[in-house]
Amino acid sequence: MKADPYEVLGVSREASDQDIKKAFRKLARELHPDVNTEDPHAEEKFKAAAEAYEILSDAERRSVYDRYGHEGLSSSGFHSTFQGFGSFTDIFDAFFGGGDPFGSGRGRQGAMQGGDVAVQAEVSLHDAARGTTVHVEYERVGMCETCKGNGAKPGTPIDTCGRCDGTGELRTVARTAFGQIVRTQVCDVCMGEGKTAREPCDECHGRGRRAVRTQLEVNVPAGIADDQRIRLTGHGHAGERGGPAGDLYVMVRVRPDERFLREGNDLITVVDVPAPAAALGTTVTVPTLEGDEEVEIEPGTQPGELITLKGRGMPALRRGRAGDQIVVVNVVIPRNLSGEQRDLLEKLSGTLDASNLEAANAEGLFAKVKRAFR
Ligand SMILES: [Zn+2]
Ligand SMILES: [Zn+2]
Repeated sequence: MKADPYEVLGVSREASDQDIKKAFRKLARELHPDVNTEDPHAEEKFKAAAEAYEILSDAERRSVYDRYGHEGLSSSGFHSTFQGFGSFTDIFDAFFGGGDPFGSGRGRQGAMQGGDVAVQAEVSLHDAARGTTVHVEYERVGMCETCKGNGAKPGTPIDTCGRCDGTGELRTVARTAFGQIVRTQVCDVCMGEGKTAREPCDECHGRGRRAVRTQLEVNVPAGIADDQRIRLTGHGHAGERGGPAGDLYVMVRVRPDERFLREGNDLITVVDVPAPAAALGTTVTVPTLEGDEEVEIEPGTQPGELITLKGRGMPALRRGRAGDQIVVVNVVIPRNLSGEQRDLLEKLSGTLDASNLEAANAEGLFAKVKRAFR
């Protein structure tokens, strides 16, 4: 039983060509075995997606499928031409430029925008707070510098394609049980360009486009959160036939810092204060993004009390409030007492009365903790 291509791509039966393309592009990017090393079924799923795309990206095939299902397709002579994977770059080449192994009848339709590229970058929490630049390296389909994209060896002529008379497409008529089916395919000689180089460019083998390793310094704005992405317009794959380049997306990972818990723009830290010191008052060393800082603990500080270091959290990414650093006081009750310590505590305990033990304010421990993790 073959899968329903609409289901495979996760689109509705009314999906536009654009939606179908978008859905396939997204799946291709997620599932390509070069990229997806976690899902053991990625390869199968990728193949299924490519086959579904072959059917739905072609108006003729799609309508045959809509009316007669897979059976209609096979009796009209269609079978998948998807063979397997080259490298990730080959797939990009195939899908966004160069040849068209899907034979999707794209033909010569004017300018086409290049595809988007995604790369990952990792920054520390400290750098995320200050803003930084990261170095990214990625492969994109770019114009061949040698032939300036026309596919011809420099100084050699470019002819109108003899196979398709410059139209870029080939039409074949197949007789089937369902009547005549006209299929339009991209010309296999000029790959839809309508022109051929008499002597192909050595560098790109006449394709005019090639994979280029690209390096870029990317500004990461102060206040960026984990998993946010930065879009760099025009740094993706080169467009075709004069179309604009796609975009580069830098997916930013902010490395967790075990000293801080991040809640929006606020940073939460916990400091341990021994019970006697909390009663007497003391100063403790608190890690902040700017380094260690001495923070005063008032006499009589209670467990779970919060000290706010104003404006010491993460800066606001756009407009809005900069975060605070919230210090949660964890009062530590001494254990493993020696005989002497025990005597002292017993002595102290005997002297305590109600005035020593009433809470300084009405807010209970629960309310404080809730406030810290609001
Ligand atoms: Zn070239
Ligand atoms: Zn041609």
